[in-house]
This record gives sequence, structure tokens and C-alpha cells, in this order.
Amino acid sequence: MNTVPERSLPFDVSFLEEVAASCPTPFHIYDEAAIRDHARRFQGAFSWVPGGFCNYYAVKALPNPAILAILRDEGMGFDCSSGTELTLMERLGIRGEDIIFTSNNTPAEEFRQARDLGAIINLDDLSHVDFLAREAGMPELICLRYNPGSLKEGNAIIGTPREAKYGFTREQLFEGYRRARDLGARRFGLHTMVASNELNPDYFVETARILFELVVELKAGLGIDIEFVNLGGGIGIPYRPEQKAVDYQILSRGIETAYQEIIVSAGLDPVRVVTENGRVVTGPYGWLVTRVRHKKETYKRYLGVDATMADLMRPGMYGAYHHITVPGKALPEKSLLEGTPEQGPEKTGSAPVNVWDVTGSLCENNDKFALDRELPEVEVGDLLVIHDTGAHGHAMGFNYNGKPRCAEVLLRSDRSVRLIRRAETVDDVLQTILWDAVP
Ligand SMILES: *Cc1c(COP(=O)(O)O)cnc(C)c1O
Repeated sequence: MNTVPERSLPFDVSFLEEVAASCPTPFHIYDEAAIRDHARRFQGAFSWVPGGFCNYYAVKALPNPAILAILRDEGMGFDCSSGTELTLMERLGIRGEDIIFTSNNTPAEEFRQARDLGAIINLDDLSHVDFLAREAGMPELICLRYNPGSLKEGNAIIGTPREAKYGFTREQLFEGYRRARDLGARRFGLHTMVASNELNPDYFVETARILFELVVELKAGLGIDIEFVNLGGGIGIPYRPEQKAVDYQILSRGIETAYQEIIVSAGLDPVRVVTENGRVVTGPYGWLVTRVRHKKETYKRYLGVDATMADLMRPGMYGAYHHITVPGKALPEKSLLEGTPEQGPEKTGSAPVNVWDVTGSLCENNDKFALDRELPEVEVGDLLVIHDTGAHGHAMGFNYNGKPRCAEVLLRSDRSVRLIRRAETVDDVLQTILWDAVP
């Protein structure tokens, strides 16, 4: 039984070696054609939505302006959560209702920045209704974030809604809209985000139902017309080879049925449906390319590569699985391992197998990209390709142990290659030190 079916790549080893000749490893490489193709399929699946469906890309997933420009070109909006992300919008010339500002524990100056940009502001807390009005002025359009509490189970990454710090309770939501209207708001949106990396489409359909029902109740209780519901992000991606991507036709049809049964049946005006997915939009179309630097055999077998957890934190932080390919080399026909990656492999007999912990060079034992992973025959100097790094990859980078963050490269639709962020240098890492203050 081969536990790890191979996954395809949009490039081969000689192509990568050519890129590496001018941009040394490690680097993340993103596939423009695949990002565009997915964006069309995803947004196209919701063509039934009155007023037009829009995904507001969660900028935090991959905040590189070259990628954001591609997504803008494909008709996406942007979900920002910080002042820096709003500044990125300013620099890209993106303004107005193409931006949703969804933040929490928000400082006044970020509300002011969002107001100046004309962004849709999505409030996380009842006290922020008055705070926003006082500090930045109540906008005409305001969105509130609902936390459904025990109505909803939640999932592993985001936790159960009752434990989550985000959003308004149901009672607070009614109070919040009433108060926002008193303070001058005239247009209203409703938001929730209760899942992360979820592959079951039913989960999102159920979320849509909860929000649609609230829209009806808000109309009945307060006479408020909600003009859009924002289902949040959280659509998962198949990190593991045996997993399957969410079927957008099933997802879209499920949400459409709920819309018909709840919004249309209640005779309400059309309500737009929007989302703010990040991971599913770019995650599968990015790869971290790294070179094997060193092999080590002690109580376990280690492949040391030139990337570290500073370039991709998910395995170390969440124990997340990221598939690894050795381009140009195939896995053995018959795996010497038993069990699935979840169960953890077990060696069968004493035959030497190509099973490795793939490690970076941080002084942290969780600086590992894979544990007990079966790989083809690998030599020092080989390239490894770590899959699904197009979201929460480079973006989560850090400089611990003085590691400069790596470069980002775009594989253009015409197959040319463009450096879209250079690697940091040691000087970059040291640049905030105030040498004059050193005694
Ligand atoms: C992180 C986040 C998203 C995007 O989540 P994905 O899992 O990348 O789709 C959307 N909205 C909010 C409020 C978030 O915090």
C-alpha cells in the first residue's frame, strides 16, 4: 500500500533549478494561471447571487501586492484586519466598498484609516458601535460580526464559538444595529466566521442558514434591511493527498436552497452573499522550494534543508501536514510504511527505508516540516518542494534566530518568472537596532 499518492506540480526540476540560479533557495513560488483559474471557478459558482457574489480575499493569507493585484483583476474584494493591510490597499489604489475591515480589539486610528478609505467596517464588539461613532464617525454602511455561541460546533483550528473572542452575542447584535441606526447608519451587513480549514460544504450551508434566519428576524424585530451577509472565510484545502477539495457546485446549491427557503420565502428584498476566504484562494497555488543541505542519522533520520519554520510555520505551530515532493524522483512503488500519515507510520521489518524528519536550522525542536515522512532516495543538494504554502506561509514568517525571511516568486501565466519579494538580508534583520543606544 502506497500511503502517499503523488501530487502534480506546474514545474519540473530543471525549471526550478533555473529559477534557483538567479533566486537562491529557499523561496515561495506562486502559480498565477492556477490562481486565476480557481478565482473564476469559485466566484463563477455563485452566479445566482442577487447583486453579484464577491469573495473579499483575506489579505493576511498572502499579503503580496502582486498577488492582490491579480485577485483584484479577477473581481475580488479584500478583507483587511490591520492598519498595515489597509495601507497596502492605499498603495494599490484600492478604496471604498471593495474593502471590508474585519478586525478585533481595534485601535481608534485603524477605524479612522478604514473610514478615510471608505472601507466597509465590520465591528467585532457592541462597545465599538459608540467607540467608532466617537472616534471616527458612524459610516452610512456598517457590518456587525455575530458569534453564534452554542448554536454552532466550531472546528479544530478556530475552536468552539463560545470560547472564541470574536463577535456579538445574539442579544448584543439586536442592540448593536439599533444603536448604529440611532447614530446615523442607514445600510447594514451581517457577518460571521466560525470555521477554519473546513472541507465539509454542509458546514457553510448551515452557517448561511443561521445568518439568513437572523436577517429575517432583524427585519421583523427592528425593521432593518440587511443588504449583505458575509459568511466569512474558512473553506479548507486538501493538504493531505487523500483529501478532496470542497465541491463548489454542492456548496453553492446548498446556500442557494437556504436562500430560497428563508430570504425569498419571507418576501425580503434581495440580500447579497459575500465571503472572505483566504486559504482556499491562494493556498494550493504556492510552494516552498528548499534544498537539502545535510543528512543526519542518530536515533532518527533527519534531512536538514535550507528553509526553516520562519518560512513556513504551520507544521511547527499546528502540527499541520504539508505534502513534500522531490521533483524528478519518484516514490518507491511499494511503500515500506504502514498506516496513514495521521496514524503515524510504522516500519515493517528492519529494511532501511527512506523515512525522514525534514528539519530547518532553528534552535527549536519543532522546526520540522515533516515527521517520519517517506520520500524517494534523496541526496544532499536535491530540491524539495513543500506544497500548499500559498496561504499563511511567507505571511507568518518571523526572524527568530536571526533568520532572514525568504523570497517570493511569481510564475506568470506566460510561464515567465518574476521576483515579487526579495529575500531579506542580514542588514534587514538588524535594521531596527539603535546602535547609538548600545552602551
Ligand atoms: C483569517 C480570516 C479569514 C480568512 O480565513 P481563511 O481560513 O484563510 O479562509 C476571513 N475572515 C476573518 C475574520 C479571518 O480572521
